[in-house]
Amino acid sequence: MKTDLHLHSHVSDGELSPAALVRAAASAGLDVIAITDHDTAAGVEEAVSAARELPVAVVPGIEISTCTPPHELHVLGYWIDWRAPSILAHQTAAAVRRVRRMERMVEKLVALGVPVTMEEVRTAAGPEARTLGRPHLARALLAGGFIRSFSEAFTRYIGDGGPAFVSQDFPTPKAAIDAIHASGGVAVWAHPPLEIVEDLMPLFVEWGLDGVECYRPNNTAEDAAKLRGVTERYGMFPSGGSDWHGPRRSFELGSFQVPSERIETLLGIGGLVL
Ligand code: AMP
Ligand code: FE
Ligand code: FE
Ligand code: ZN
Repeated sequence: MKTDLHLHSHVSDGELSPAALVRAAASAGLDVIAITDHDTAAGVEEAVSAARELPVAVVPGIEISTCTPPHELHVLGYWIDWRAPSILAHQTAAAVRRVRRMERMVEKLVALGVPVTMEEVRTAAGPEARTLGRPHLARALLAGGFIRSFSEAFTRYIGDGGPAFVSQDFPTPKAAIDAIHASGGVAVWAHPPLEIVEDLMPLFVEWGLDGVECYRPNNTAEDAAKLRGVTERYGMFPSGGSDWHGPRRSFELGSFQVPSERIETLLGIGGLVL
């Protein structure tokens, strides 16, 4: 079975609706996908219903942005109950924080001589976005003719540490892991940088992490094997996914996939057997 357990929809910074994402995954020949929007599980229900008519299974998920200085770390939740109080509380608080942070980034851009507005960001994000993210700002800058390409937004202005970048008042990894567990899910460290994996694993063990994303499009087979080694040494399970955000942004959906036998523990937790 072909799986991809890291996908974004238009309820965060992806391009497709949850239903369109599921249809695209089915056409691409994927058997199991997860919907993992930034700080919201608002697309899960639509994705799960769309999958009822199609030969693809949907793992309910979320990707929570966290901070433990100096690191900004993303924690994926899988098999969550998207109606659980801990998830709803997180997504409500995160939506408010992200609006405030976007306002500050817009202010910084204006001060830099780039007169983009919140209204333009909201238009670029579309009516379905529940959490505002930097890609929405990048789209607005592109639409306003302030930059020539989507990636220029990050290299020139809003990449980590860039002149218009604003960090957020993110929850700690432990708070995110607790919220995921309280909703019946398991927590996975998303796209761990190889250089810090060894240093952070003992902390993640303390915080209750369950798994690590080992299989990603930018990881070589050697990277993945190294990550898997560390993951298993700490008694955790591997996961994998593409972090696909939509057809305009990147490669074709399905061109990256993880064979289900590599992540059978995670699939089995939700009752998916190979
Ligand atoms: P935010 O959660 O608002 O900080 O935005 C993070 C998101 O921005 C990531 O999930 C990516 O979708 C996107 N992103 C971050 N850095 C870059 C980059 N250098 N180029 C393109 N997209 C990026
Ligand atoms: Fe994103
Ligand atoms: Fe991420
Ligand atoms: Zn992601």
